[in-house]
Amino acid sequence: MSRIPHVPMKHFLSIAGLTLAASSVFAQFPGVTEQPPADLKKGWDSITTREAKEILTYLANECEGRGSGQPGFQKAADYVAAHFKSWGLKPMGDNGTYFQNVPFQVTHFVDAGSELGILGLDKSILAGKGFRMTTISTTSSITGILAVVKVTGDSAKFEEGSLTGKVVLLYADRVTPSLRNAISRQNPAAILTVSSTIPPINYNATRVTSATPTAPRRVRVPMGVITDHAAAYLVANLDMVDANIAPEKGAPITLSRGFVRLKANVETKAIGVPNVVALLPGSDPAFRDEYIGIGGHLDHLGKQGTVVYPGADDDGSGSTAVMCIAHAMATNPKKPKRSILFMTFCGEELGLIGSSYLVNHPMIPLNKMVSELQMDMVARDSYGAQNGDQQRMDIVQENRDTIRLVGSKRISTELDKVIQEANKYVGFKFKYDAEDVYTRSDHYNFASRGIPIAFLFDGFTPDYHQPSDTVDKINFLKLANSAKLYYLTAYAISDNPKPPVHDVVAKGR
Ligand SMILES: [Zn+2]
Repeated sequence: MSRIPHVPMKHFLSIAGLTLAASSVFAQFPGVTEQPPADLKKGWDSITTREAKEILTYLANECEGRGSGQPGFQKAADYVAAHFKSWGLKPMGDNGTYFQNVPFQVTHFVDAGSELGILGLDKSILAGKGFRMTTISTTSSITGILAVVKVTGDSAKFEEGSLTGKVVLLYADRVTPSLRNAISRQNPAAILTVSSTIPPINYNATRVTSATPTAPRRVRVPMGVITDHAAAYLVANLDMVDANIAPEKGAPITLSRGFVRLKANVETKAIGVPNVVALLPGSDPAFRDEYIGIGGHLDHLGKQGTVVYPGADDDGSGSTAVMCIAHAMATNPKKPKRSILFMTFCGEELGLIGSSYLVNHPMIPLNKMVSELQMDMVARDSYGAQNGDQQRMDIVQENRDTIRLVGSKRISTELDKVIQEANKYVGFKFKYDAEDVYTRSDHYNFASRGIPIAFLFDGFTPDYHQPSDTVDKINFLKLANSAKLYYLTAYAISDNPKPPVHDVVAKGR
């Protein structure tokens, strides 16, 4: 997809010749001229598109998709912690660190004892030589008919049921996620993609336990890569017949008369994956023991096989905004009266695991958290079907300066009003049409504890959860303005004599 222009060129040119002071007038969305209160200006001015771009470029491009339990996630966590430290924030993790370790287990495929062969023949293809599994969660012994699928182009249609229970040998010019999904939907026993080389060992993180039950994850079809040579051996030694598939019903498939057997060994070990947490202690002793949480999730889908999911918007953008707000508050001479807890979570994509662990093992008394402000995807202009609904088609031109404000009226309508007031200085057009994602990010674990939450969310694009969620498509003005909005919101909540009133207590949690 091509890069989406976010700010008209004329606008860039017009600020180029102005002084620094005057240019900050244009830092909000067009049309907003009101300046924030003078005593918040220094922190406000520190939140820039340049800062946002620097941080997000690192998180999206240098951390291999930030998969929980993968090395790239730890790299990102180290980066966030180093910044929190440099801004003088108080570490709130385990043993005086910024890391609250969440128990996970990682699984990975092991070559030793794993093999692929033809039932009835002695010779086997050894793992690490002729094939290797890239996605598999348990030690398995799989027996099935071989189905050879040859695909040209990006996507393919398959006759319903044509691959069920079979070991798919996939020849394709390009294996896109949509092609993989199309095959997976037919419930094959395994998918082996034919390639000239086999990939390195891949680590997958799964959760050990979670105190908050979440929806069961879909079991994924075991996937791996097989060399041309090994694939040719299988085909040559099996009797292959064409499946009778009418061309309009799906891709041609050839099936073996005999069976192949795949033995796959998987090792599991327990590890800790951190939430990164830091505190800006409140400036007023009378309010200091009350807290405002500001959160985003640092993890994304990581590296799956050889494919990296950069997760620039999801949720590199929210994590970046959390960091920009932390920096701004650390920079501003006037500090908030109440304490601010900055949180970047792990394991969100695996089922809100990091935030679930945090609310079950809080480093502050949760009944003293007066609001949680969440950002998950705050830097794209939505377009296409929203949440998979073809009746809700967004148009990019209408969403340059929009953002979804989710859940902000569910527990405290006052919280929503505080955000609307702060928005006078920022100029978002709020949409309230995405309550269907209310349970789908970390704030939900706080809301479940009765804490008033607001969730900023930019809506869906076709890049959602795809390797194409890249940094070049980011609207940095929207990202910086999300940070600015919550910066002002957090100050407003912090300095109000009373925390947001719970006026809708029982409804809609
Ligand atoms: Zn996501």
